[in-house]
Amino acid sequence: MPLVDLYGHEEIRALLASSARAGKLPGSILFHGPYGVGKQRLALWLGQLLLCTEEDKPCGHCKGCKYSRNLTHPDLHWYFPRPRLKDADPSLADVADDYQEAIAERLANGGLYAAPPGNDGIFVATVRAIVQQASMSPAMATKKVFIIGDAERMVPQEGAEFAANAFLKLLEEPSAKTTLILTSSEPGGLLPTIRSRAVSIRVPPLTASAMRAFLADPIVSAALEKAGAPKSAAERMALASGAPGHLFGDESRGRSIAAARKLMDAALAKNESARHAAAMAVGGSGARGSFTDTLDAMLVLIAERMRSALHDSDEARALGASRAVDAVARARDLAGGNVNPQLITAQLLHQLATILA
Ligand SMILES: [Zn+2]
Repeated sequence: MPLVDLYGHEEIRALLASSARAGKLPGSILFHGPYGVGKQRLALWLGQLLLCTEEDKPCGHCKGCKYSRNLTHPDLHWYFPRPRLKDADPSLADVADDYQEAIAERLANGGLYAAPPGNDGIFVATVRAIVQQASMSPAMATKKVFIIGDAERMVPQEGAEFAANAFLKLLEEPSAKTTLILTSSEPGGLLPTIRSRAVSIRVPPLTASAMRAFLADPIVSAALEKAGAPKSAAERMALASGAPGHLFGDESRGRSIAAARKLMDAALAKNESARHAAAMAVGGSGARGSFTDTLDAMLVLIAERMRSALHDSDEARALGASRAVDAVARARDLAGGNVNPQLITAQLLHQLATILA
């Protein structure tokens, strides 16, 4: 099965295509924006464009395009968080095997996938593989493209400084034959040394019409069926709210909703020590990824609260809920930066305790 079509993001596509035509595309790019809006799919599209051999790129029918769409192009390299390999010091061949399997799995669903579990990462063996592949000449095209999805999950490891530095050097001065595309929904979690070396491009949520076109795609329907997504188009539109990735992440979503419920209960308990305990239970900076998911889930719960308040014509409660949305959104912004999740939670719960009557 080929990759599902890319829907939406027309403005960014036009911008990227014209920069590439003018030979002005930066060598290292960071796509950032909300979770699930299709940043990696957009990166794969840009990869296809760069590997297309026709005038009107990406033409969709040349060999470069076809291989890219099937993820078999030898010069298109896609990396993303994976479980740590059992071998403490895996070889490059082990890493290659692992990714081949993972990519085949993603491709079996047209390239649509659930968010990787929180403890998956981009470990040093993978960084070594990237650096090594980047040092070689392109196999088929005139360029090589590396996509590194969820790049904030690149974990610095002790004793791996050599690989880390080689990667930074690659980001800073990629050869004219290499393009690196990083994606992140939590750019604040990226190592500053990485963030400062890539040109940032913000990828917004999909418009309603792009969302509708995406949902009408048969590859998408089949994958949603498998993922156990809601059946009706209206429910799918609401759940995704412009970020199709939300439709595929059932398991982690359930966990986030449960964690969000605990925090809401703590805020509503109006009990200082319950709030403190709930904030401590959130975990430190290492838990950043799951923390923003929890905040997103809180927004869902508060929206439910608002709907029920409006249904009961309880204006005071509805107003409280709308102020709570603002408070959580501010916490969400802080969470994208370098503020400790426990501190953010303590402050947020304190605010919510007064706001939510
Ligand atoms: Zn082409």
